[in-house]
Amino acid sequence: MRLFGTNGIREVVGERLTAPFVTAVAGAIARTIEPGRPIVVGWDGRTSSVAFARLAASTLALGGHRVIEVGLLPTPAIQYNLLALRGQLGVIITASHNPPEFNGVKCIAPDGLEVERSVEEAIEEAVERDLGRTVPFDRVGEVSVDGDGARRYVEGILAQVDTEAIARRRFTVVLDCGNGASAVTSPTLLRRLGCHVVTLNAQVDGTFPGHRSEPTEANLADLARTVPAIGADLGIAHDGDADRAVFIDPTGRFLPGERILTLLAREFVRRGPGGVVVTPVSASQSVEDVVKPLGGEVVYTRVGSPVVTREMQRRHAVFGGEENGGLIFPSFQLARDGAMTAAAVLDLLARDGRSLAEVAREVPQYTLVKEKVACPVEQRGRALEELTREFSNEGSPVVTIDGLKVFRPDGWILLRPSGTEPLLRVFAESRDPDRARRLAEEGLARVRAILTRVAGSPA
Ligand code: MG
Repeated sequence: MRLFGTNGIREVVGERLTAPFVTAVAGAIARTIEPGRPIVVGWDGRTSSVAFARLAASTLALGGHRVIEVGLLPTPAIQYNLLALRGQLGVIITASHNPPEFNGVKCIAPDGLEVERSVEEAIEEAVERDLGRTVPFDRVGEVSVDGDGARRYVEGILAQVDTEAIARRRFTVVLDCGNGASAVTSPTLLRRLGCHVVTLNAQVDGTFPGHRSEPTEANLADLARTVPAIGADLGIAHDGDADRAVFIDPTGRFLPGERILTLLAREFVRRGPGGVVVTPVSASQSVEDVVKPLGGEVVYTRVGSPVVTREMQRRHAVFGGEENGGLIFPSFQLARDGAMTAAAVLDLLARDGRSLAEVAREVPQYTLVKEKVACPVEQRGRALEELTREFSNEGSPVVTIDGLKVFRPDGWILLRPSGTEPLLRVFAESRDPDRARRLAEEGLARVRAILTRVAGSPA
């Protein structure tokens, strides 16, 4: 029984995600992990988060574990506090950017990274066999509350950047918390950095009344209007659990996540000097364009932040992240971190002296086209094998880190199975927008042709 996806368990509240289900998962965690150092429990601002978190905390304590509740915080703040409090496991009740009816459970290892798949499998097996842990009265764990998590996290970030240089720029920042957990940390952080902060949707509300919780261009129209309207230097938005940050330039233009990923990759490799940058195989060519000339190296992984962070740990990377605004700063912690991303961008602008629009223009500009084709899960493996053979026979360079990536002299096509749906994703990138579109169309046509063949022939 598979419960954990690439980012923990995510389910609809009242459907699969019920009190007995969360109790079963927490009981399974209590059994899988030996009591010892405390388990740190935190949650996001969803309507059911505190209730599920307290169920989890109580179940863990009744299973003999010491529990420290750090309360409502961004996911990266909970990861940071897990290390600060020397916990042996973090349990986070969150569904990140999903629609309001979702919630979920995420388990964090003592090093702050998502737990290994083997731990999740052990938990899944214990849930399936309905195994918990119950201890006698004299071994019940203590549940304590730590109210210092937000302050500790903000102080940690402030120590990473040149606070005086940032304060000298007296930035005006419009911050859109999207009614998520960042409301308890990011306004404070930005004010501590000497910014004049104007907030949007900075009251925590699990119904997400301001806009949907995924920080896409379409969802951030109010922010994009407000930034130029009040003459702000930039706009910053987080997703619901604030492990991501995206940016609006002073003209009100939404900067795609890969632009900030590339800018910061260049900055950290410059400072290295050199070093490894880790990013999924779906990342823009622009990252390599800026990293290589500075003597750095780009290492590609499968898609998904847990794989990226594990590879960063293995390679002692200087920086890494995903094109959706989930960026990882190993000098701070090996976790996607929205507030740290905001501070790092302000730090870069303070060192550089120019505006975000000017700095962002220096990055090579590519167009990424994202498409998808319906494909039964059982046919995906064979379809990808056939496609790999076909493209290789034509002499196109290919890599098969995650699905199939085909390189052309002026761009690339990525064909990859979706982790959550019966789909093949087709991404294509080129500097020329028309060429990117044509490459995506070629990818779609090739996948459809193969699927017709695979469906028509015996397995
Ligand atoms: Mg998130």
